[in-house]
Amino acid sequence: MDAGAKLASLLIFCLFSNTLFMSSAWAADNYVTLEQPPKTEAVFDLSEYLALPEQTMPEKPEWLGPVISVMPESKSLEKTYPMIDSEHTWQPIIAPILLAPESVPNVLSTPALTEPDKVSLDKIDLMATKKFVDEHPKPPKIAILIDDLGYNRRGMEASLALPIEVALAILPETPYAHQTATRAQAQLRTTLLHAPMENQRELKLGPGGLYAKMSEQELKAVLIKDLEGLPGIQGANNHMGSLLTTKPESMKWVMEVLKERALFFIDSLTSPDSVAEKTAQEYGLKTVRRDVFLDNIRTEKAIDRQFSRLLKLARRHGSALAIGHPYPETMSYLQHRLVNLQQDGVHLVALSELLALPTPSGTAKK
Ligand SMILES: [Zn+2]
Repeated sequence: MDAGAKLASLLIFCLFSNTLFMSSAWAADNYVTLEQPPKTEAVFDLSEYLALPEQTMPEKPEWLGPVISVMPESKSLEKTYPMIDSEHTWQPIIAPILLAPESVPNVLSTPALTEPDKVSLDKIDLMATKKFVDEHPKPPKIAILIDDLGYNRRGMEASLALPIEVALAILPETPYAHQTATRAQAQLRTTLLHAPMENQRELKLGPGGLYAKMSEQELKAVLIKDLEGLPGIQGANNHMGSLLTTKPESMKWVMEVLKERALFFIDSLTSPDSVAEKTAQEYGLKTVRRDVFLDNIRTEKAIDRQFSRLLKLARRHGSALAIGHPYPETMSYLQHRLVNLQQDGVHLVALSELLALPTPSGTAKK
């Protein structure tokens, strides 16, 4: 395959891989960065790398891979395990890119190379394997959202004292709702409506709750009242909602109201069956889902463990979102931890930096 044909194949391949991000260095050096696993598994298959069981990976340093490289001298395939260590805090997902054989008109019909170790060398000539690294690493980003605000003054004061990048989500019609929203707005801090949604355990939602039995008109009226009670909010996330977020109809009505007001949506992901993020994407809302809850267990040790998970996910995927609560334990942990992020090589960013618009195929980032 000559260089022109290789380039053409790669371009065709990229057209079908809309989740693929190519660094500017690739043309010269054949370097490519994958921001997330591609969906076009017929072209190449990352599932092998992503399916590695967590427990087989050492805690430190963190290993990626395996990455399969073709060794030109021995004409054999060799697995290598690139790693993330403290000196190189950000390595993108590195994976082989398989070029489609020239004789195959549609790259999507190219058979997946599922067992690279057993592929004969003839096939390798057809499907050139390349190993890619990023020469211009981007530091991983984390964003933090504190929700359940509005019920007490102490939580309000402590969360307003956190770094300005930390976003706050406020429960409607609560004693400190208006004051929290106004003061956060004055700080130019991102604020959200923490919309109470029906859960599966029949826990009380408090005022402004949205329930599965509500008609379209009822649900929209309550949500609009919730939104209008909070000045300066830019988005919404669900409080509880393990039942309501699984209801496609209810979620459509929620997203219609948010869409009209150009608000974003964060899926707190309180149910694995949530359709909230997917529905938000369908309506073209900016959206992202929660990766980590910081403080389901309210001890410093447990919160620290969750924070480490957040950093690990951010290094693996480029960014990650945590949700925490205005508990004294969480507030004091974040107050000292967030000023020490430099040493982790991770950036605390505003929530807006993690929000992705849906891609044309409907698969939003992350
Ligand atoms: Zn909540």
